[in-house]
Amino acid sequence: MLEEAHYYFHKAADVLDLPDRIREILLTPLRVVKVNLVFDDDAGQLQHYQGFRVQHNKMRGPMKGGLRFHPTMDEDHATALASLMTWKTAVVDVPFGGAKGGINCDPAKMSARELNVVTRKFVELTKDIIGPTTDIPAPDVNTDARVMGWIMDEYSKYAGFSPGVVTGKPLHLFGSEGRDEATGRGVMVVLGEALKERGKSWQGIRVAVQGFGNVGANAARLIAEQGAKIVAVADHMGGVSNDDGFDIKALNDWVQEHRTVKGFSGGDPFNGPDVITWDVDVLIPAALEDAINEDNVNEVKADIIVEGANAPTTPAAHEALVKRGVFIVPDILANAGGVTVSYFEWVQNMQQFSWQKERVDQELTDTMRKAYKAVSAVAEEFSIDMRTAAFVLAIRRVGKAAKARVYTDEEIRL
Ligand code: GLU
Repeated sequence: MLEEAHYYFHKAADVLDLPDRIREILLTPLRVVKVNLVFDDDAGQLQHYQGFRVQHNKMRGPMKGGLRFHPTMDEDHATALASLMTWKTAVVDVPFGGAKGGINCDPAKMSARELNVVTRKFVELTKDIIGPTTDIPAPDVNTDARVMGWIMDEYSKYAGFSPGVVTGKPLHLFGSEGRDEATGRGVMVVLGEALKERGKSWQGIRVAVQGFGNVGANAARLIAEQGAKIVAVADHMGGVSNDDGFDIKALNDWVQEHRTVKGFSGGDPFNGPDVITWDVDVLIPAALEDAINEDNVNEVKADIIVEGANAPTTPAAHEALVKRGVFIVPDILANAGGVTVSYFEWVQNMQQFSWQKERVDQELTDTMRKAYKAVSAVAEEFSIDMRTAAFVLAIRRVGKAAKARVYTDEEIRL
């Protein structure tokens, strides 16, 4: 996965003609931490998971990024995803660097007590490297407000009252209005910009969503509210389609109860992976990495792809899509709504002052639109695709901060 993240970085670095030594400085993570989480499960059996935190870059501010609880989590994933956070925070211009981490566990197979114990152990072993002004975790795949609340509580035992150590917390525990749906709202806003750019309205637009967790479900709901039709959704259990567009409320109620879209009676079942090649105008991959790859890319029918997930498109698939004229709003722009409202949450925590939801939504919308326009302008400047443009914009911003702080090297032109 790291190789893939580096591929996009180097493509953009080539556009900027960055010297090798600057590339190395910008690519090398500052710190890579691995911890062993050993504990007794509910049956009294000893369990052993590994936790990771990779701090990639802090030139633009405290490092920021989610915690993913997933069996595939390892150092390579954490490092690649941490570097994406550095570029993502730069694209939306929030004053943070990039980090990422997680635990190689499967929360679906754990009790609440086991999850609580493992989360607190992770904090105990990383407490010296995280903090409100150093590195601020947040939700990612399989982690939610409840887990963030435990993190705040555990960290505060060591450091005293510290709501700003983590974002995505419950509303009644220093969380922010609008954080829960923020990534999905950001996806909706950038899709709106992409449609506007093409002179299209929301009406009649057919959308498929892969993944129906926090990002996919909220994006689907908000996009349907604009007037587009969600015609196919899928998760790892299966898919369901409805050519007239789903009753999103009924679908969300079903998912709340059953934790999957599979079995929803308001549509027809299909084999989940087929969602990627569904006959739609817009495809939103909102699950895990590499969903669009060499095997399915030639069958993709959407004209617009909005990447709700991190790294859902392999480099080979990306190149094939760009060649065919498919318009991709890349992850580091499209799903940056989450970290944007994480920033608003952190600001509210630092100021001990809460914002109304209308303010959060408006500032998020403004930030996403501004970022979209900035990426679009770079794409035009160099005649490059939106992903390469987003990386160029981010590398410029991080590079300029680094240059202003540390380096005197005149050969860097950004
Ligand atoms: N995990 C989310 C992401 O990949 C949010 C990170 C954050 O809010 O810090 O962008």
